[in-house]
Amino acid sequence: MNLISSNQDPDDKSIETALRPSSWGDYIGQEIAKRNLSILIQAAKGRKESVEHLFFYGPPGLGKTTLAHLVAKEMDAQIKVTSGPAIERVGDLASLLTNLSPGDVLFIDEAHRLNKAIEEVLYPALENRTIDIIIGKGPGARSIQLDLPPFTLIAATTRASLISAPLRSRFSGGSFRLDFYNENELKEIIKKSSSVLSVDLKADAAEYIAARSRATPRIANRLLKRARDYAQVHGSASIDLDVAKKTLELIGIDHKGLDEADRRILSAIVDKFGGGPVGLQTIAAATSEENATIEEVNEPYLLRIGFIKRTPRGRVATRSAWEYLGKEAPRDLELFS
Ligand code: ADP
Repeated sequence: MNLISSNQDPDDKSIETALRPSSWGDYIGQEIAKRNLSILIQAAKGRKESVEHLFFYGPPGLGKTTLAHLVAKEMDAQIKVTSGPAIERVGDLASLLTNLSPGDVLFIDEAHRLNKAIEEVLYPALENRTIDIIIGKGPGARSIQLDLPPFTLIAATTRASLISAPLRSRFSGGSFRLDFYNENELKEIIKKSSSVLSVDLKADAAEYIAARSRATPRIANRLLKRARDYAQVHGSASIDLDVAKKTLELIGIDHKGLDEADRRILSAIVDKFGGGPVGLQTIAAATSEENATIEEVNEPYLLRIGFIKRTPRGRVATRSAWEYLGKEAPRDLELFS
């Protein structure tokens, strides 16, 4: 199971729920989003209205779902959770919307996977709280309009570029881009998590894990959990630096926080395509990784640490990437980027 990209491990899911911050104060970082949201929430509460519709985007594991739950909690609202691919037919969405109670929050994850027909039903729902339902078939079919209770839609995606402009413009409360976390924030997050998991985490071990978590809380928590298992199996009472180092070595995560798949991607660009530019499809074919995984999981972090660049002609490995792979970059490298 790939520790960095996987989202499927049920054990992981339950731990994730246990570690999910349940109060605004436990939600570390993302200060700009938090500040703006708390103004929206206070204002809406003051007017006794629902918060306006919100759009959260950014790489996986940065806290979009958590933030949606916190918004609902702050509004004393129920949250109903679904995802783009789960809403297959217009009827699915209609039943979700008509079953909302006043003030509910509807959270749609992976919103980029909503199909066009569903999006069109959403427009009037978001704008004037109505939906049009077609009853019957053929010439006798007729359309009826239903009123919806006041509600807040929170849509989240890792692929903001795939959300159509008309849908995006309907999030009247605003769009919030979640940023990667710095090491201090990640340290704080795993310290809190270690107390939820009742495990003693030493400061230097926290620092070591935080620096290798790809600036992402979900990964920091997963590494912590692995280190806890390692400590337990090796009879260590706490997660100290030695346990942290051995755990990461065992999983194959290096000093930059990169795993096997990242290294394969970098070496493909450098070794097979002379450092690029090379298209995403070609990289995916050469590494047997999925296009979407590379684009959503690997690439954002490799871009962030300056190992690759995106150019109009494709991805290019930077000088730092060549050095990381222990290779000498071509002297004219910058000409390609
Ligand atoms: P996303 O929806 O963006 O993929 P999640 O909201 O599911 O991410 O976050 C994944 C996990 O990371 C959560 O269960 C939580 O434990 C942790 N997490 C995310 N953001 C924060 C944060 N700001 N503070 C503390 N923990 C966080």
